[in-house]
Amino acid sequence: MVTADPQLRDSAVSAAHDRFRIIGAGPTGALLALGLAQQGFVISLRDRLSAEMLQNRSRAYAITHSSRRLLQDLGLWTALLDQMEPFRALRLDDCTAQRTAWFRLNDLRSANRGSDAIGWILDHRPLMRLLLERLQASSQVSLQLGDASPVDAVLSDSESREWIVAADGPRSKLRNCARVPFWSHDYQQGCLTAKLRLSGADPHCAYELFRPEGPMAVLPVGHDRYQVVWSAPLSRCRDRAASSPAELLSALDAILPEGVNAVELLDDPGAFPLELSLAPRLHRGTLLLVGEAGHRCHPVGGQGLNLCWRDVSDLLHLTLKLREGAVTPKSLPRRYSRRRRFDLVAVLLSTDLLIRFFSNQRLLLLPFRHLALAMLRHLRWVRRFSLSAMTDGPGSFLKPLPK
Ligand SMILES: Cc1cc2nc3c(=O)[nH]c(=O)nc-3n(C[C@H](O)[C@H](O)[C@H](O)COP(=O)(O)OP(=O)(O)OC[C@H]3O[C@@H](n4cnc5c(N)ncnc54)[C@H](O)[C@@H]3O)c2cc1C
Repeated sequence: MVTADPQLRDSAVSAAHDRFRIIGAGPTGALLALGLAQQGFVISLRDRLSAEMLQNRSRAYAITHSSRRLLQDLGLWTALLDQMEPFRALRLDDCTAQRTAWFRLNDLRSANRGSDAIGWILDHRPLMRLLLERLQASSQVSLQLGDASPVDAVLSDSESREWIVAADGPRSKLRNCARVPFWSHDYQQGCLTAKLRLSGADPHCAYELFRPEGPMAVLPVGHDRYQVVWSAPLSRCRDRAASSPAELLSALDAILPEGVNAVELLDDPGAFPLELSLAPRLHRGTLLLVGEAGHRCHPVGGQGLNLCWRDVSDLLHLTLKLREGAVTPKSLPRRYSRRRRFDLVAVLLSTDLLIRFFSNQRLLLLPFRHLALAMLRHLRWVRRFSLSAMTDGPGSFLKPLPK
């Protein structure tokens, strides 16, 4: 539970450190601002983009059950439900070993099964529209959108009672200005994202295809429309993104599962570089890093945004304790870094291992891949464990889930 009870929510925070200055109003910064405002903190949220530009990304996110719980706690779930496409099956193909495994609803842990979906696909635009609407309606939040002033002054200008949050994405200037240590590994790979119409695909199934050049996810976004997230060497992604729609559709046709065909391209495909990065400590003084300002992983398994939102969830848990007096302002940054460490390291390592294990043609690995897929096919506890790690976070299997 991350939100304070209504009485607590409405009263002004009296403890020291009752203000947050958040730089970056992407999906992480905006959601955090809303959660903190609901707990009664005073928020200033700034982004260099205007409200219109913030909404104007052609992207769809795979939403897991950990994100569902956070959105429910913040009172956003019901408003988003109509905008989301649930998927009730997840098909995993090892295209080299020519083996397939399926995850279905009964592979979910019992606390998640009531939702009748393994996950949901949510488009960026309705998500940002709702977040910005709620932020604009909150008397606790001052929004400064379209403000491109340099961020270095933020650190020196900050008031003594103020927390500063870097939610300014993977190239975070605030993180760099504060010289927070940061590790980064360039995958030399890229990712092509495109929306298209497919024929022959199941509208309630998400696909993850492990191919030698990299994994490809095919995510249902409603009716016969899908988003593909196609990893490959970056130059190849860029060439594909620049190719004609007919060339791209025929390249996709050649690799989609049998019976599934690419019919029409619905947006301009984009290609972006992939990296593995992590700030080993998510704080320095009163500066806190959330979302991709603090970490980035491979898009395999759709973990990226969900991992960012688990930062939000853990930070809101601590700020609630701060308001209740169970956490001191001094210890909050350290506790936040410590609380996030296992989840971040486990997700970063496991997504990295997944692509090293499955996205190659090494003959020596093939027997192990056959074994892994056979275990997934035949052993329910292996499917349940893997799905729980993907949807609730790697540390969750040993803990009871909130109802
Ligand atoms: C091209 C691309 C395509 C992607 N496609 C997918 C996808 O299909 N599915 C998926 O699940 N994930 C996708 N991702 C990943 C996903 O977008 C991220 O996980 C998510 O956006 C992280 O959210 P964030 O709020 O931490 O960072 P961001 O979304 O990057 O938000 C950071 C915000 O900070 C602002 N900002 C930056 N610097 C400053 C500054 N100096 N001053 C003020 N504001 C600043 C930016 O304008 C931005 O609004 C994609 C990422 C990229 C780059």
